[in-house]
Amino acid sequence: MTAKSAAAAARATVYGYPRQGQNRELKKAVEGYWKGRVTADALRETTAELRRSNWRQLADAGVHEVPTGDFSYYDHVLDTTVMVGAVPDRHRAAVDADALDGYFAMARGTQEVAPLEMTKWFDTNYHYLVPELGPDTVFTADSNKQVVELKEVLAQGLTGRPVLVGPVTYLLLAKPAPGVPADFEPLTLLDRLLPVYAEVLADLRAAGAEWVQVDEPALVQDRTPADLNASERAYRELGALTDRPKLLVASYFARLGDALPVLAKAPVEGLALDFTEAAAANLDALAAVGGLPGKRLVAGVVNGRNIWISDLQKSLSTLGTLLGLADRVDVAASCSLLHVPLDTAAERDIDPQVLRWLAFAKQKTTEIVTLAKGLAQGTDAITAELAANRADLASRAASPITRDPAVRARAEAVTDANARRSQPYAERSAAQRAHLRLPLLPTTTIGSFPQTTELRTARADLRAGRSDTTGYEERIKTEIQEVVSFQEKTGIDVLVHGEPERNDMVQYFAEQLTGYLATQNGWVQSYGTRYVRPPILAGDISRPEPMTVRWTSYAQSLSDRPVKGMLTGPVTMLAWSFVRDDQPLGDTARQVALALRDEVNDLEAAGTSVIQVDEPALRETLPLRTADRAAYLTWATEAFRLTTAGVRPDTQIHTHMCYAEFGDIVQAIDDLDADVISLEAARSHMQVARELAAHGYPREAGPGVYDIHSPRVPSAEEAAELLRTGLKAIPAERLWVNPDCGLKTRAWPETRASLENLVAAARAVRGEL
Ligand code: GLN
Ligand code: ZN
Repeated sequence: MTAKSAAAAARATVYGYPRQGQNRELKKAVEGYWKGRVTADALRETTAELRRSNWRQLADAGVHEVPTGDFSYYDHVLDTTVMVGAVPDRHRAAVDADALDGYFAMARGTQEVAPLEMTKWFDTNYHYLVPELGPDTVFTADSNKQVVELKEVLAQGLTGRPVLVGPVTYLLLAKPAPGVPADFEPLTLLDRLLPVYAEVLADLRAAGAEWVQVDEPALVQDRTPADLNASERAYRELGALTDRPKLLVASYFARLGDALPVLAKAPVEGLALDFTEAAAANLDALAAVGGLPGKRLVAGVVNGRNIWISDLQKSLSTLGTLLGLADRVDVAASCSLLHVPLDTAAERDIDPQVLRWLAFAKQKTTEIVTLAKGLAQGTDAITAELAANRADLASRAASPITRDPAVRARAEAVTDANARRSQPYAERSAAQRAHLRLPLLPTTTIGSFPQTTELRTARADLRAGRSDTTGYEERIKTEIQEVVSFQEKTGIDVLVHGEPERNDMVQYFAEQLTGYLATQNGWVQSYGTRYVRPPILAGDISRPEPMTVRWTSYAQSLSDRPVKGMLTGPVTMLAWSFVRDDQPLGDTARQVALALRDEVNDLEAAGTSVIQVDEPALRETLPLRTADRAAYLTWATEAFRLTTAGVRPDTQIHTHMCYAEFGDIVQAIDDLDADVISLEAARSHMQVARELAAHGYPREAGPGVYDIHSPRVPSAEEAAELLRTGLKAIPAERLWVNPDCGLKTRAWPETRASLENLVAAARAVRGEL
């Protein structure tokens, strides 16, 4: 291999593309089908058209090999479950009766059967449906969807590369099926699964595939020697097949680490690696194994999961280093473009100058093509593109949006003491007891109360100019009155105002902070037909004026009981936004923390004695590799403390977390130094209470006794039983009584009944103390 021939062969490609279409046609078609308004044929026709137009766009932009099979009605991991025939027993009848309805039954459940569990796809905000496997699982190949989509692309006269979730990743993402012992390891099914992949590969070759991309993102996580052995075996066996397309094994989201030598030696024709954040580590590892002689290397140099334009010059230099390490070097985004919105051209509210700093899927595709051209033909071929890119980068770097001297000076002046409460917990706790005079086992909720249709309509009317601010605010006040009076009547000890004014716990604050951008059409798939528009942390963050004080104060004016102030913490603000790529995350977190700190202090000055700073995302942003976690937790916990440490000792700081096992972050929870933490615990029977106790957690905690994810009303006796379980781990002086999470997705009737039972449970158990 020579660097020159590797360069000359360079082409542009992508691993996957947003599925929804320009106007979220996919969502409309699928939801229409569920409601019976769209026929199965119409759904197929609409989605086939979406694929056609995506491929056409990619090809017109200059992408040489377009991905196929990455499209999905709901989720690509569920598609893989269908492909390997691993339909759970409880869904078998539905799938046999009608493949499409059975597919949606697995995704969403029916009256009779529960859906597959949903969880986050690595450290992204995309959720997949978790395969359920057991020792009796029988795999059978169903390559139909893959073959159909490949034929579609070929019929368009284009080159398609089918994309599969790899066998190792598929098994590592699976969990033991219901009734199967929890220690069952799905990876032990590898030998049974490989023949199914062999069959699918043969079918794809027969249908005309030259290459197939096999995604193995699970290999960028810490893996055991057994996992690596399994990977070695998987690709040795698939590689040895005679009747197969060429294999491109793709990794993304982080460095390959120990899996790199395994894949480099495997008898496959290509590897795809992440050269954005993982660039240095992957480059070193690649050099250490002597490159990939005889193989194709696909270099993910354009960030596939953030929305900033690339530094083309820098990407070219990374690509230049890679030449000579493989036979052919192709250019791609670091991962599927599924994780970014479709097209910046759909944004009309963003300043055109600022819009030029942003690249969504379409713009990223253009960057990839430009880089491939630059690599193949030399930089002279892309002089104009490089000049425009330099100008846009310079405009971003020099903009007052990204450099606010006041914000920077303040962040630099932060000292350790700023992030530490003025007194240790024991003294604060005594001061808070004296100040708040709460009963043992105090009751509270997590913040939101039901977000009724009327509230959503009122907000939509205000946005559309159909109603004025005064009318809207009156509506919010009425809602707060109802929420406060219900809580008083029910006997809840620490009240909330119910968050009726908030559309979303991140967006609400993002809209009020300077330095944040909102998009009009920046939809990204969260799961199934649910799409979110993450706000963009674009510049230096500051808070022009208080954001929540008037609503909290209004609620407090209605009651003698303490009303909790309610804020979203800095880590969660980052986790559910697109973040800056021009400074360390910790710096952005610190700016957000300082803005929130002002809000906390203003709430206190306005008479709020209890302030909750929610950090549900603390656990989910944990880096994929263990070695990277300590650094993350250091800045994350510091940002939380910086937010909360400015208050008096007798002001009680709460935090809240959900969606997680907490076992591996108990130390971080401790490091937050919050006075009270509420956590999701009802489904795990207070598991987290035992984890906190085992750690010696010294502060107050409220493991949830009401699972808010279902309309089911827990009985008072059931909640009391959970409390008694909690008391075995946490003493009564430090145990709170609360639901698992906010109530915004619940309806009023079950909310009322459940909270009445929760208060009854607290009273009953107090009586037993
Ligand atoms: N305070 C928020 C609420 O109650 C917390 C939501 C969350 O943890 N996701 O809605
Ligand atoms: Zn929650």
